[in-house]
Amino acid sequence: MFNTPEALLKYMRDEQVDFLDVRFVDVPGREQHFTLPLSYLSPQLLQAGIAFDGSSIKGFRGIDKSDMLLIPEPHTACLDPFAKHKTLMVTCHVVEPETGNPYLRDPRNIARRAEQHLVSTGIADTAQFGPEVEFFILDSVGYAVSPYSSFFEVQATEAWWTTGKQGNGYNLPQKGGYAPLPPADRYSDLRSDMVKHLESIGIAIELHHHEVASAGQMEIDMRFAPLLTSAEQVLKYKYVVKNTAFQAGKTVTFMPKPFYGDNGSGMHCHQSLWKDGKPLFYDPEGYAELSDLALSYAAGLLYHGPALTALCNPSVNSYRRLVPGYEAPVNLVISAGNRSAVVRIPAFYKGPQHAQDKRIEYRAPDPSANPYLAFSAMLMAGLDGIQQGMKPPTPMDKNVYSLSARESRRIKTLPRTLDDALDELESDHEFLLAGEVFSRDFLDNWIDLKREEAESFRMQTTPKEFEMYYNI
Ligand code: GLU
Ligand code: MG
Ligand code: MG
Repeated sequence: MFNTPEALLKYMRDEQVDFLDVRFVDVPGREQHFTLPLSYLSPQLLQAGIAFDGSSIKGFRGIDKSDMLLIPEPHTACLDPFAKHKTLMVTCHVVEPETGNPYLRDPRNIARRAEQHLVSTGIADTAQFGPEVEFFILDSVGYAVSPYSSFFEVQATEAWWTTGKQGNGYNLPQKGGYAPLPPADRYSDLRSDMVKHLESIGIAIELHHHEVASAGQMEIDMRFAPLLTSAEQVLKYKYVVKNTAFQAGKTVTFMPKPFYGDNGSGMHCHQSLWKDGKPLFYDPEGYAELSDLALSYAAGLLYHGPALTALCNPSVNSYRRLVPGYEAPVNLVISAGNRSAVVRIPAFYKGPQHAQDKRIEYRAPDPSANPYLAFSAMLMAGLDGIQQGMKPPTPMDKNVYSLSARESRRIKTLPRTLDDALDELESDHEFLLAGEVFSRDFLDNWIDLKREEAESFRMQTTPKEFEMYYNI
């Protein structure tokens, strides 16, 4: 861990590290990088920033004012487990060269402002996030799109039912993948390799397992951490998971719903607020041992849930996951234990000595979200709930997938398409502007980018349409 550019450079010289890999994230959430040899580096360069073309980065500047600067944050540096030459990777934030100010569309800067805003409210000083990022491991072929039609093939080792390949006797049925031993779980060692790499770059892991979907669905759980760190860890996690699989001749997808008929991949987010090192969500007298503060936070998430979806579920594919029957949430309700609710209170060892584990789980997000934006938006919704003194609706401690029609009509649901989610964000976003955490410019730009994405899909003809209408 380094506190200054000088300390970072000294380490590189002492340990003969050949390269510094500077990384930052674009608006949709894909990390980008530039690689600089040790011979070119100086403390002045790291302080002044590394210039790059912002007009080529999705969601950043136009061609007319394209120059931007990357400022490495030395404390984020760690050795790249995959580079051929010894390389230190370091996370950067983006500044505008004209003013030297943090760039308002840089997702990392938004997350930093969210943390500062939390402190300025006096409610708490730390927001802890524990994301559960699910993914699929597939054959190296991944997918192939025919240039002549929009039919595509997915070739997946474990998805024997999509390829029609003969099984080997250890195939897992659809929705039957939770948590068998090898040989049915054929990626246990590969997940352990991933965990070794994650630990080597300083990410604390709690456990890994095969997930419910049959087609090689996996989960590796990270220990919770403060918002900015946790979001950064999600991006490092994606890098490590993809590269470990790639070295083994496989690919990984974080798309939310690769296979119709099987579970999709979520990024449930466990959240709690802390002040002066003490957790604020525990109260032995409250519903599910939650404090009033925690319940108001949850109420804020539920109230702003429809708008949050535009940032937590920002792909067209996200909405194929948010359907009943696959452990993904649909209804905006709170429940102790029930996995069909958007806000769940996970069981935990009772008693004040476990107060630090008291948290709420928001189950809507998926791994196509930019974690800096999704975490910041959730925190803002929760804080609004606290500041407005919101009370959550009556807990729904039964399976919300199987309610009567009358009961379910009374329950608010998540938006059903990306376009609907963007409509919700257009009509409910004041809570994101508090403390200038998000800017109007950022949200307008986000909505434009995502409308374009939704529109490009609206014009596509899909295999399902051939099935239904070819012979009309
Ligand atoms: N894969 C499920 C989802 O889409 C979640 C399964 C679980 O509860 O971990 O949200
Ligand atoms: Mg899971
Ligand atoms: Mg979960």
